[in-house]
Amino acid sequence: MRILVVEDDAALAGLLRDALSRAGYAVDMAGDGEEGHFLGDTEPYDAVVLDLGLPRLDGLTVLKRWRADGRNFPVLILTARDRWTEKVEGMDAGADDYLTKPFQMEELLARVRALIRRAKGHASAELVCGELRLDTRHGAVTLAGRPVSLTANEFKVLSYLMHRKGEVVSQADLIEHIYAQDFERDSNTIEVFIGRLRKKLGAEWIETVRGLGYRLREARRTE
Ligand code: CA
Repeated sequence: MRILVVEDDAALAGLLRDALSRAGYAVDMAGDGEEGHFLGDTEPYDAVVLDLGLPRLDGLTVLKRWRADGRNFPVLILTARDRWTEKVEGMDAGADDYLTKPFQMEELLARVRALIRRAKGHASAELVCGELRLDTRHGAVTLAGRPVSLTANEFKVLSYLMHRKGEVVSQADLIEHIYAQDFERDSNTIEVFIGRLRKKLGAEWIETVRGLGYRLREARRTE
């Protein structure tokens, strides 16, 4: 899952980037409204955290432009405590949720998780595909009740596939959603991650759809 954070306060931006990265997201940062608007307009984010008080272009205008252009990723706005009207304006402009500064990072992470899974059509924090379970709260994966140990990148790939269970996900799509913008992208590494996941979970879970991509499907028990 890939997230854009638009925040001009450098200290808060750093905290957000660290917390979201630790939680397993690929994170792109923008320090002003123009850069933020450009990134949201050109990259396929799974969620956006948008401060409203921004230099160069204010957050409300950024949000209105995205929505007018059909950008429909979930947006969590950050509002100043003393400006309650911002929340109303923000929600009316197409924000999906808001947090008032200062906030607890845990609450922000919980709201981001909820926004992403709702946007992908999941009601629960735990994603389930047969005996395979992924808990988005703790980043834990179990197969038939037993914990599966994954690296950060393996987890990102599996998490994206599980959010889109049953759909064919192209390699390009996976690359765009598991790497941040400044990361050197290499489609071969996706094959490597898929290969390792198959080794750890069993080959039958991730189907290769020739020429199109990969599909996570409920594996049948053979024994
Ligand atoms: Ca600000």
